[in-house]
Amino acid sequence: MNSSWEAWLQEELTRLSAAGLERSLTTVAPLPDPADAAWCMLGGARLLNLFSNDYLGLSRDRRLAEAAANAAHTYGCGGSASRLVCGNHPLYPALEEALAAHHQAEAALVFPSGYAANVGTITALVGRGDLVLSDRLNHASIIDGIRLSQAEHRRFRHGDVDHLATLLRAESGRSRRVLIVTESVFSMDGDQAPLLEIVALKERYGALLLVDEAHAGGVLGAAGEGLTHALGCHGAVDLHIGTLSKAFGSVGGYVVGNRQLLRLLLNRARPLIFSTAVPPPSVAASLAAVSAVRAAHLQRHHLQQLATLFRSRLKASGLNTGTSATQIVPVWVGDNGNTLAFASALRRRGIGAVAIRPPTVPPQTARVRFSLTALLTLEQVQWAADQIIQVAHDLGLTGAQSTAKGRHGDAGKR
Ligand SMILES: *Cc1c(COP(=O)(O)O)cnc(C)c1O
Repeated sequence: MNSSWEAWLQEELTRLSAAGLERSLTTVAPLPDPADAAWCMLGGARLLNLFSNDYLGLSRDRRLAEAAANAAHTYGCGGSASRLVCGNHPLYPALEEALAAHHQAEAALVFPSGYAANVGTITALVGRGDLVLSDRLNHASIIDGIRLSQAEHRRFRHGDVDHLATLLRAESGRSRRVLIVTESVFSMDGDQAPLLEIVALKERYGALLLVDEAHAGGVLGAAGEGLTHALGCHGAVDLHIGTLSKAFGSVGGYVVGNRQLLRLLLNRARPLIFSTAVPPPSVAASLAAVSAVRAAHLQRHHLQQLATLFRSRLKASGLNTGTSATQIVPVWVGDNGNTLAFASALRRRGIGAVAIRPPTVPPQTARVRFSLTALLTLEQVQWAADQIIQVAHDLGLTGAQSTAKGRHGDAGKR
């Protein structure tokens, strides 16, 4: 490297670390005994795992492991090529049929990841002259898709249908076509989008609606279909994006919708066309996961109970869980340094949870996010809540800072 690159690199890294924003990798290992599935090992410490998106505990499920092992022996470990070349091995159509049936949709299309599904879908459908209306707190993969598409981009205040209506009224006439994008359960806040109202607006203005159910898949809906099913509005949602990497315990992303839309995606979605197919063992695990998710009624019920108990304990002790209404429960801190201190103190007490800082969330809204999974017991969750409350009190985090507004609609970009 020449000296100007070196100076730049040094400056950037110093700035990150001084702002309490530097990230680094830590190795997190599962414990070998399946009875310890709720725990993990991090830097030599045994921690109760409250950072995982493996909401139903399927990532280590025997049914998935056996399906993956068999597929590895039968078809091999590699994806070989893009699906459009020779990567579309025989398990793909089975998985896509299962996903379409799961969602009562016409068809499904599997992508290498949920990130790729969002970027690929949005860039395939809109471009210059089109308008995308997107919730301000939408995931980075949605934001990246919109930016790459070069469509006009307006963000509506988080969960604010009145603001969405105002933007539709003011702007939709000037655009060729309008796409509305929202998550159903928001990944950093654990709250739910007002989907019924958004559906009514989308219909009034003839917009297309894309709903990203990454954190609701497997968890909400009678058979884990997601929030749109729980609310009965799935028929009105044009594109449902899901991930196989969270509650499904595997890897990959998918889109369900009508055949013509998916036919276009297959021709235009660059992350699908120019990236190697998800390899057979993971496709096999995903296929097994669809049935496992559908049957996981007890786990879903248990998870709801855990979430309700956990949230109400934290709130009763003066902690701010914002607008959380799901298994994702943030505790608001605000300041980056205090958030890191909170997460480290929790680790010393045996609790693993992630400090979420900008740019993942808007400035001054740093928080520690707890994700609950069905692997946890009520006792473990009660114990965790007690530790969290004590640590927060010790660090003085139950005062003014944590009473900052739960909704932070106008905060900065991600
Ligand atoms: C995790 C996530 C994704 C990305 O899914 P991956 O399969 O992990 O790439 C997309 N959207 C949202 C809302 C997410 O939380």
